[in-house]
Amino acid sequence: MSNRNRIHAVNAVADRPVPGLLDAVPASLDYYGEDVFNFPKMRRFLSEATAKKLIATISQDVPLDPDIAGEVAHAMKEWAIGRGATHFTHWFQPLTGSTAEKHDAFLDINSQGEVILSFSSKNLIMGEPDASSFPSGGLRCTFEARGYTAWDPTSPAFIKRHANGATLCIPTAFCSYTGEVLDKKTPLLRSMQALRKSLTRFMKCFKQPEEHTTITLGVEQEYFLIDRNFYLHRPDLVQTGRTLFGSAPPKHQQLEDHYFGSIKPRILQFMGEVEQELWRLGIPAKTRHNEVAPAQFEIAPIFEDVNLAVDHNMLVMEVLQQVAARNGLVCLLHEKPFAGINGSGKHNNWAISYGKRNLLDPGHDPNDNAIFLTVLSAIIRAVDLHSDILRSTTASAGNDHRLGANEAPPAIISIFLGAQLADIIDHLENGTVTGSRHRPSSMRIGVDAIPSFSCDATDRNRTSPFAFTGNKFEFRAAGSSQSCADVNMVLNTIVAESLDYISEKLEKVPQEEFNNELQNILKTIIKNHKRIIFNGDNYNPQWLKEAQKRGLPNMTNTMDAIKPLLNAKNFQLFEKYGVFSQVEMESRFEVFLEEYHRKVRIEGEIALEIARSMIMPVVREEFGRQMAALKAAEDQQIISGTVSLRRVAEKLGQKLDELEEGCNSLEKAINGLHEEIITAMNNIRQIVDYLEHIIDDSCWPLPKYREMLFIY
Ligand code: ADP
Ligand code: MG
Repeated sequence: MSNRNRIHAVNAVADRPVPGLLDAVPASLDYYGEDVFNFPKMRRFLSEATAKKLIATISQDVPLDPDIAGEVAHAMKEWAIGRGATHFTHWFQPLTGSTAEKHDAFLDINSQGEVILSFSSKNLIMGEPDASSFPSGGLRCTFEARGYTAWDPTSPAFIKRHANGATLCIPTAFCSYTGEVLDKKTPLLRSMQALRKSLTRFMKCFKQPEEHTTITLGVEQEYFLIDRNFYLHRPDLVQTGRTLFGSAPPKHQQLEDHYFGSIKPRILQFMGEVEQELWRLGIPAKTRHNEVAPAQFEIAPIFEDVNLAVDHNMLVMEVLQQVAARNGLVCLLHEKPFAGINGSGKHNNWAISYGKRNLLDPGHDPNDNAIFLTVLSAIIRAVDLHSDILRSTTASAGNDHRLGANEAPPAIISIFLGAQLADIIDHLENGTVTGSRHRPSSMRIGVDAIPSFSCDATDRNRTSPFAFTGNKFEFRAAGSSQSCADVNMVLNTIVAESLDYISEKLEKVPQEEFNNELQNILKTIIKNHKRIIFNGDNYNPQWLKEAQKRGLPNMTNTMDAIKPLLNAKNFQLFEKYGVFSQVEMESRFEVFLEEYHRKVRIEGEIALEIARSMIMPVVREEFGRQMAALKAAEDQQIISGTVSLRRVAEKLGQKLDELEEGCNSLEKAINGLHEEIITAMNNIRQIVDYLEHIIDDSCWPLPKYREMLFIY
């Protein structure tokens, strides 16, 4: 029997016409943001007074005046209907890590029994989805399954289109009826508030006028694209997002010919369509390129306010998948869709601006330098004290294949500063003032200027999980499919705590002592927390040993990595900053634990089904063919060929037995611990991947890596 599915899949891809070229027409970005209820639309559709109030809430953290909700709802409805929307939804981010929406039509019946279009202030402000089917980690028993969604006016409403209609989406937070968080947005908003407060206090110590704090985030998103024809014949990809079988082909990424390579026409067409859609949604998609692995790509927008950037990243992931489907492709956001080649991450570029000034930009003024170095030290302290909880935000079944496996970044959190800054930090610690090629000749905070940092390509450590890149920190451990909300929620909170630690000391110091005391504080911080700084190669096995010596935690898997959620130190931290109560943290632990178990179990079940129902039959047939040929040869008393026929039959028979036994073990393991499932799965994968190389290619049922990764 030949396997027609695989061959058909290859032929279907071969039959696709290659996209042609665009006729030269002037490019325009006039449509940028046309599907967003943004400032210009607020000014057009609202009275001047209401527009002013709403804009102040969004850009100045002025509390929302509830009296304007009616007018805003009406304006949003008029605008949305004008753009073809028939429905609205509260759009929220439950703990599943994806987004949720439940649509309601604007349709209503008035007292005369006539159909009208309606959308009230209540519709805008609050929704009551049945919360019982969202994970809550025991926070909310099903009999009191009330949850509610609450309008987040700081993230603008937008319109999502489909083939024959459109929906007005209102970004919302999602809480239980008793106010406990059930989502990813609420804690992020709380952490932003905490950091703003701590930063304002901190800047006061430096006699800075009060300004608006903006926490900025730019998310680089990695993803894979494969043709849909292949995807549909891979039940493992369809069910789990990653291949549970398949070995890397002879040529994969070792020639390094894909990274930044010229982008294939079909992919460019896809990217262009993605960008058009994102621009329409006011998402400033900026950068596109091929990534390291074959069939792997990256998209990065211009940074924005962190809350908005997180929402936008959720939309980027959705748009990538939808546009892929329209183009006969599938976008894989899993952290490790293919074994043996690079997986996908999400680089979280984070910084804080106070007024117009980015505090992670050293600037030229000595006073700016002092603030910069103090903020930097606060971050170093924060990450060292709380690397456990930072690591926990990246824990997931998918990300376990990257972090802690032989792929970067490692599970050990450390900070890369670059040679220039590391040198300055050294001098801060030692109080030395003599020359070095990287720094000015004297080093007194608040007195001397340090140069601005031009972290050029050579000073860009790509292996570090948390790297200073000139004017921001790039956290690289998040997984490609994860929401960035958690990472930034933790960063904001731990940095708020560190800033408060410093402010508390500075507030007590008389003005004339300020510089000396600041110098002392920084010196102490560097002394106590420099173990978190590592400028070397994070992939080097030596680093593992060194990190252990320094006492840095190394949590290589989800089970270990989520434990800090139950740690008393972390309860205290998050409670102090009003980000989580202890109960909320415990509930998150439950949710993540359960999600992890379920995912591993689903993988085990689908692996078992594929092995038994797709692979074993093919192996048995091949075995049968060899045996028949052997018997025929012997019947005809032909000697030649029988040695090899016998050998191949032996090998196949042996692997068939091993696979059958492996499947039985996996079946038993499935009801047990996750480690046992993983071990049993790895065992059968090894056998199947070996068989892939010796079974007649035309009979192999699963599209192969060399096809999925290279044929477009
Ligand atoms: P690289 O791949 O070289 O690290 P990219 O251009 O792919 O760089 O991504 C860098 C990201 O960092 C972009 O999203 C960019 O907008 C963002 N970024 C730049 N400055 C800041 C900042 N001050 N705060 C947050 N993000 C920033
Ligand atoms: Mg990039």
